[in-house]
Amino acid sequence: MTEITPGKAGFTALIVEDDQAVCDLLQRIVESQGYAVVACTTGASAMAAFAAGSPHLILMDWVLPDMDGLELSRTFLASERGRYLTILMISGKDSPEDSATAIAAGVNYFMVKPVEKKVLDIWLSAASQHVRACLQREVDDKALAKIQEELVDNNLQLEEAISRANAMAMEAEQAYIEINQIFKTVAGGILLVDKHYNLLRCNDAFLEMAGVTKEESLHRKCYEIFHSCLCETKDCPLQLVKKGEKRVEAEIEKGEPDGGIAYYSSISTPFMGPGGDLLGIVEHITDITERVKAEKALAESERRYKELSLVDELTKLFNKRYFNTHLQLEVERANRHGQPLSLLLLDIDNFKHHNDTYGHADGDRVLARLGQVIAASLRVNDIPCRYGGEEFTIILPVTSGEEATVVAERIRASFAGVAFYPTPQETVRKTVSIGVTQYRAGESGQSLLERADQNMYEAKQSGKNRYVLK
Ligand code: GH3
Ligand code: MG
Ligand code: MG
Repeated sequence: MTEITPGKAGFTALIVEDDQAVCDLLQRIVESQGYAVVACTTGASAMAAFAAGSPHLILMDWVLPDMDGLELSRTFLASERGRYLTILMISGKDSPEDSATAIAAGVNYFMVKPVEKKVLDIWLSAASQHVRACLQREVDDKALAKIQEELVDNNLQLEEAISRANAMAMEAEQAYIEINQIFKTVAGGILLVDKHYNLLRCNDAFLEMAGVTKEESLHRKCYEIFHSCLCETKDCPLQLVKKGEKRVEAEIEKGEPDGGIAYYSSISTPFMGPGGDLLGIVEHITDITERVKAEKALAESERRYKELSLVDELTKLFNKRYFNTHLQLEVERANRHGQPLSLLLLDIDNFKHHNDTYGHADGDRVLARLGQVIAASLRVNDIPCRYGGEEFTIILPVTSGEEATVVAERIRASFAGVAFYPTPQETVRKTVSIGVTQYRAGESGQSLLERADQNMYEAKQSGKNRYVLK
């Protein structure tokens, strides 16, 4: 605390004395002690001077012309600075009761007139001590008030911090309740795993999947509890997330204790701390065994169906297997009954170029369209087949080579008339080259096919978009 330096320089005294001669005398003596003095001869002027100057020391006469000096002292003592005032009352009243009354009113010192310089000096030096003590007290009080103010401020901040902390605790509790609810409600298992594979938390559904109790799951690594085909491989979701993946979706195949296989789908996302740092992963695992088994059964039955199928899916014509069987049958029948039999072999011209230019899917559309054109150009007994790729065979029972050229020409012309629109700006027309040949008694189906192929090759060699009969 600040020390008040001894000495009276800078201290102010207010003298209130209606007797001018006494007033002057007092003023001289007080000034000689180093005080700055304001002298007043009435109570009213003293009040004004007090309000204007905040004196430290007051020399007060009791009996004043306009008011009671003791009352005036009470007023000053009751003012804001009252507690730091030093009042020396100088009065003609000289009974012990009078001085007791004055002291009881708060006056610090009481001196009886007439004023003697020596006596006044003694009282003044005592009063000066008091003035200094008051000033020290004032300074201390101010410092104390400041500390109290700061204390109140600190308390306020503390209260605010506590209420914020309480609110956060409530929020955290609410979040905890919500997470528990979500863990319980969500379909499938949920687990939180830290960066070191430690299982931090999981729901009951996960425990059930893993076949362990809550107690058995405590302080364990995830791969110890739920070991799958991804564990200890580069596809481990935790490892991928640690490398920066934001979402890892995986299908898990897992051997079961009963020897069967279970399938799970898993979605893993980073589990972040409040500062945005990676703590581990959140993994959601769903049992998809039933679905996968159904899908596998379906795929198997589709595969078997295709194997048994006789129709080419794209062109809706018969397939090569069907062709081989029926060529054999028709060859036998032709030999048996001596009836003519012919074969066409078609190949699309420059088809590779079409694929390369417009894509395979557009090529497929051309093939499908050719299938329709062929089907529309035949009689019921004719057997149109997709032999492979962009090659087609047509068995024409009871048909001579000459008659077969009519069919070949019909197909060639109508297909050449079909417009394709591989892009909005382009119109493309495709053509076919056809080998036509008639069966020669006794020869094999294979030899018939080879001749048709040679004729088709010749049609290509001689300019494409035509048929050759030999
Ligand atoms: P050429 O006029 O000499 O017959 O020429 P090309 O380009 O038609 O004959 P090439 O044998 O060189 O190419 C045949 C093309 O047929 C290549 C192949 O990609 C395509 N192809 C075969 N099967 C399919 C299919 O199922 N779909 C589609 N889009 N293209 C097929
Ligand atoms: Mg070809
Ligand atoms: Mg071709």
